[in-house]
Amino acid sequence: MNSIDRTPEELDAIFLTHEHSDHIGGVGPLVRKYSIPLYATHGTIQAGQKLGNVPVFNPIQSGEIIQLADLEIEPYATSHDAQESVAYAIRCQNRKLGHATDMGIVTQTVHEALKNSHVLLLESNHDVEMLDFGPYPWALKKRIKSDLGHLSNESCGDLLNAIKHEHLQRVVLMHLSQTNNHPKIAHITALQALGIYTPILSLASQDQPMELTEV
Ligand SMILES: [Zn+2]
Ligand SMILES: [Zn+2]
Repeated sequence: MNSIDRTPEELDAIFLTHEHSDHIGGVGPLVRKYSIPLYATHGTIQAGQKLGNVPVFNPIQSGEIIQLADLEIEPYATSHDAQESVAYAIRCQNRKLGHATDMGIVTQTVHEALKNSHVLLLESNHDVEMLDFGPYPWALKKRIKSDLGHLSNESCGDLLNAIKHEHLQRVVLMHLSQTNNHPKIAHITALQALGIYTPILSLASQDQPMELTEV
């Protein structure tokens, strides 16, 4: 936050997707220190014991829109090996941001939630061949490729191809595996899926914040 000139005091809320440690690590101390309201499903809170004591917990449910200042935040259910995991679509006036990470398959719910988004944040987790021939143990490979795992570059491309439209302004590829993916493969797969459409395409990194983006 420091590197993009923001402070934790500016956070009005934190929304969780699920309880896996790459998503909740550090959240407990952060919400306690700054009394930031936390939004999560009951399943996430129950499974996320690592969170510890949460001062302000607002339970959410997939399909139930939360109004926060001028934002409309819609959690939708995802297919992932977590308790009651969600991803989000966020609307403000006539603009929409669609987010889809940590899911093994793209369901009709995902299509519905993301359609007509101006900005898309999409999981492009792995290249299937790199995963197959890579160093992960067999059980973990199976888990990642299952319906409750993560989206491959190819699945991300299929999703993008299905929901692209002329007002799509920016696409950010997220949740890339450092072991089972290469940014260039993810990038070219998304570019091909976009075809004639030319939104700004960027890749999020695991340890660097992105520049701020206006939707
Ligand atoms: Zn996860
Ligand atoms: Zn994750």
